Parts: sequence; C-alpha cells; structure tokens
Amino acid sequence: MAVDVVCRMSVDEKNAKFRSEHKGTQYYFCCAACKKSFDANPARYVRN
Ligand SMILES: [Zn+2]
Repeated sequence: MAVDVVCRMSVDEKNAKFRSEHKGTQYYFCCAACKKSFDANPARYVRN
C-alpha cells in the first residue's frame, strides 16, 4: 500500500486512479482533490 501524502490515507497503488510523478517518484492519491492539491504545490507534501 502507498500513502496519500496529502491526507495520509492508505491507497492501493494497483487500483489507484489518481497519481502524479514528482522528481522521478510516483505518488498515489485517494481522490482528484488530493492529486490537485499535490500538483499545485508538491514541495509542500514531499520531504527530502
Ligand atoms: Zn487523499
């Protein structure tokens, strides 16, 4: 399972409808709203 970095929900990456790639890493989201939030400001959710 992957974790939706926006809302911290567990997301099954095999069935995830919403995903984004950021700096070569795939991120999975529970819903379009979470993907939209991530896409608008990935740095807010990604800790490197
Ligand atoms: Zn979410």
